[in-house]
Amino acid sequence: MDYLEAEDTRPVAPSPQAVAALKALRGPLPPGPTSPEAVLHLLREYGSPATVAKNSGRFFGFVNGGCLPAALAASWLVSAWDQNAAQQVQSPVAIALENIALEWVIELLGLPEGTGGAVVTGATLANFSALAAARHALCERSGWDVESDGLSGAPPITVVVGEEAHPSVAKALGLLGLGRNRVVRVPADNQGRMRADALPHLDDRTVLCLQAGNVNTGAFDPAQAICPAARAAGAWIHVDGAFGLWAAASPRYRHLTKGFEQADSWATDGHKWPNIGYDCGIALVRDPQALRAAMSIQAPYLVKGEQREPSDYSPELSRRARGVELWAGLRSLGRSGMAAIVERTSSYARRFAAGLRAAGYEVLNDVVINQVLVSFGSPEKTLRTIARLQADGTCWCGSTVWQGHTAMRISVSSWATSEDDVDRSLAAMLRAATE
Ligand SMILES: *Cc1c(COP(=O)(O)O)cnc(C)c1O
Repeated sequence: MDYLEAEDTRPVAPSPQAVAALKALRGPLPPGPTSPEAVLHLLREYGSPATVAKNSGRFFGFVNGGCLPAALAASWLVSAWDQNAAQQVQSPVAIALENIALEWVIELLGLPEGTGGAVVTGATLANFSALAAARHALCERSGWDVESDGLSGAPPITVVVGEEAHPSVAKALGLLGLGRNRVVRVPADNQGRMRADALPHLDDRTVLCLQAGNVNTGAFDPAQAICPAARAAGAWIHVDGAFGLWAAASPRYRHLTKGFEQADSWATDGHKWPNIGYDCGIALVRDPQALRAAMSIQAPYLVKGEQREPSDYSPELSRRARGVELWAGLRSLGRSGMAAIVERTSSYARRFAAGLRAAGYEVLNDVVINQVLVSFGSPEKTLRTIARLQADGTCWCGSTVWQGHTAMRISVSSWATSEDDVDRSLAAMLRAATE
């Protein structure tokens, strides 16, 4: 509680001195025990000052949410419970709450009835899990049992991705033996949207990976223009919607996600827009049996219950009961609370863009949701501005190169961000740019 109470006065990035002081925690493993109180004291003394103030409301790096109070408290309780969420017999409560949370997510995202899934560590593992289900289904169509016999000698699968797909999709394809580079890339427009007119031939041996929410621009692939024909051709459509899919929770932004519900699988994150603490990703599959076939695990000692066993749907066996935190966060938000986060953070993104434009700086993207890309002039000047801003400590933004242009990224993803946070941060940005 002390830590959280000081959050607003902490520099968002820790001082170099605080990071250097972490050396006090080094040294050889002590030969004997230390009291739990003394261990915690060390963490508080040296650990807390070297944190990034993620719950300050002024962290705008990457696409990181904060942690809702209910999700945080649930996380403390889950640790006290020490439940293994592998199977019902090890934790009836964890499995029950995970099942409820998954149903709520499917409802909020407007996905088809009967969709099933798994709570995993993030969208990277959600992409991996959903694409494992796709790999299973496409191999099965040719009478090939990929889980038993592997990919060597399997009938080929074509994977189609957008030019601006997130790197975690490539990583997932590499892990699955489908190859990071053995893909057909579809050109994208200046917002990073896949060009529907440039799609290659699709058939029932194809996995088509779409994106809902580009990590830089926030743009959505044109699912309505792509999905009906892709479905008719028999392709497996996968959607990486790590944060963007949550726009479906808001009546004002839902139109952006239209068409994605026609897909076969989806990857999203609890730890981004919904502001569940780390780590929390969600893999969803229209035909849960495909995910089950890819992930199931059997042994006489792993006695199965009557309901869905998480270890048959996720890459892990033993796992943290992160579904409890997801349940708690969504329970505290309700439908309107989730919509309000989407709407508030997106309006703050527009406020940043308007303030920066008014000061004469170039906003590089159409601000459709919560992402802003801004250039302060030359690449050198933009990078110098970002470095000064990070050292100033009022807020934190990172850099990117968007289609050849060096830019600062502003991602407004935290439930805790207020209008005052935006205005203080905007002032710090303008100071950093003119110093
Ligand atoms: C953040 C992000 C990912 C990766 O998610 P992790 O939770 O960091 O694994 C994948 N795709 C997109 C579009 C993202 O924004």
